[in-house]
Amino acid sequence: MSYKKEVVFYAQKASANGLSEGTAGNVSIRNGDRMYITPSALPYDQMEEADVLTVDIRTGAVLEGERKPSTETPMHRFIYLKDDRIGAIVHTHSRYATMFACAHMPIPPVHYVIANIGREIPVAPYATYGSEQLAHNAVQTLGDNNGTLLANHGVIAIGDHLKEAYNRAEVIEEVAELAYGSYMLKSLHPLSDKDLDDALENFKMYISG
Ligand code: 13P
Ligand code: ZN
Repeated sequence: MSYKKEVVFYAQKASANGLSEGTAGNVSIRNGDRMYITPSALPYDQMEEADVLTVDIRTGAVLEGERKPSTETPMHRFIYLKDDRIGAIVHTHSRYATMFACAHMPIPPVHYVIANIGREIPVAPYATYGSEQLAHNAVQTLGDNNGTLLANHGVIAIGDHLKEAYNRAEVIEEVAELAYGSYMLKSLHPLSDKDLDDALENFKMYISG
């Protein structure tokens, strides 16, 4: 599958699976100094390979494509510039995770599947969508995590490749829903760092075995 096709495939999957409603969210893949990113404000069911933009990560210049690139292009660029091992980014406004983002509450590690994203999912301080300040806040808060919340806005998940970033966006939503339930049941039991380290160790065998 071409990079641009993959971007459309996962953007539409996020929409179909309820992670991104309407035109919310955006998806990109890095290829060297370039990234392929979803267009701004185009409904996912109308999106085609030719709508995906090629953008220079260093300058933000559009190298290929007729449409307007996602308003969150600065956030995608800044995240790629932070670490050249990052290969893909998924941004969503998925419901339960965004509830935590609106409440300025990190998602606690109530389920072990959170382990390869972080010990919790932190909240980056609020800044206007599409702004360089938001891009900066996201980079700062991500740190070594593979995902973060954006206050009063949504979710960022990163990965070596798009399937991994997408799966992490799904896991963040799943754990947010479970954590919400734990708060509702008034019985929150976050896992310890040791529990999370052990889960992470087991994932290696789970994936390769
Ligand atoms: P775009 O349609 O410009 O990608 O914006 C959606 C969004 O989620 C902004 O944060
Ligand atoms: Zn958004």
